[in-house]
Amino acid sequence: MRVMGTKTVPARTYQVVDKVICDICKREGHETHHEGVGWCSGYEVLDTAIYLKVGESYPEGTSLEFTECDICPSCFKQYLIPFLQSLGVTMQERNVEY
Ligand SMILES: [Zn+2]
Repeated sequence: MRVMGTKTVPARTYQVVDKVICDICKREGHETHHEGVGWCSGYEVLDTAIYLKVGESYPEGTSLEFTECDICPSCFKQYLIPFLQSLGVTMQERNVEY
């Protein structure tokens, strides 16, 4: 026989992403996707992701540290691409369909 009792679980407080804002122009993103940000809603896809992910991942668990910023698509094109090109980076484009 199991005699049941009652336990009270205290409310938990934890951090969540309420909103995402472009670090340059302060435009508000729509939502976080995986490790990036979606800048529109509906069926259109307009995402950016700029991060360095460092850590360890084993079958038993994962520990990661992110260094990141949130930059909207307009600022990505206006500021980040020219900056990277000034360092000699050639931007590549690829199409994905499935
Ligand atoms: Zn921006």
